[in-house]
Amino acid sequence: MELKDKVALVTGGARGIGKAIALCFAASGADIVVADVNIEAAESTAKEIEAGGRKALAVSMDVTDFAKVEEALNKILDNFAKVDILVNNAGITKDNLLLRMSQQEWDAVLDVNLKGTFNCIKAVSRPMIKQRSGRIINIASIIGIIGNPGQANYSASKAGIIALTKTAAKELSSRNINVNAVAPGFISTEMTAKLPEELKEKMKQAIPLSRFGSPEDIANVCLFLASDDASYITGQTIVVDGGMVMA
Ligand code: NDP
Repeated sequence: MELKDKVALVTGGARGIGKAIALCFAASGADIVVADVNIEAAESTAKEIEAGGRKALAVSMDVTDFAKVEEALNKILDNFAKVDILVNNAGITKDNLLLRMSQQEWDAVLDVNLKGTFNCIKAVSRPMIKQRSGRIINIASIIGIIGNPGQANYSASKAGIIALTKTAAKELSSRNINVNAVAPGFISTEMTAKLPEELKEKMKQAIPLSRFGSPEDIANVCLFLASDDASYITGQTIVVDGGMVMA
């Protein structure tokens, strides 16, 4: 699958799943904007991409702040003149049981995961509408489909992303912009490394393929959705979870 000379913006692209997506897209011929709150880590990922022969730009971007997103987008357009692909990957967790969950824990997760996705879609849709083409891929989660004790904020944010994906797909389809979501299951990254070992073992037993996914498992599906091979797919949520959730 080829993304030759496409420009892809990956939020939260400094590490974890976002970094794997950035490296995978670059290996397929795309130039990459690594957007993250962690600018040092974003710069290090950008250097890795450049070492592989593609252009890369690290930008400091907090997805919760629309003005900052627009500022970063202007910088991206100055450098690359277009954005072909947006991957809304930036996401956080702040787990707590519903009764103990603070307003701050609720707001922080909804702000980054859901409002951040909205902010970035809104910002890039303008240049994408002008160029009459684009691909938007939103990273949801199976928790947005099945729920999970201790993750009221996270599950609501990810369910919101799935609904937002459908609405954006309907609104932008006439401009040849496809919008899809990927819902990962349990993927080995720093986000999941902090979970207790006992819980991880229990979760592994619930996965028919008997292993946790790798960031590359998610990146490969994003590559397909960004490629010409997926040109007739929009508004969908592709579950990538080793079979944990079956409809
Ligand atoms: P990580 O925590 O490893 O990486 C997330 C990245 O996003 C970090 O670089 C982080 O920066 C950055 N980030 C956090 N907040 C913001 C913000 N406000 N603006 C811009 N960037 C930000 O997460 P994963 O790679 O594990 O997860 C990536 C996505 O995949 C998330 O949306 C997550 O919900 C989703 N997902 C992950 C699963 C998993 O099992 N790992 C399962 C299902 C979904 P910093 O380093 O400063 O924190």
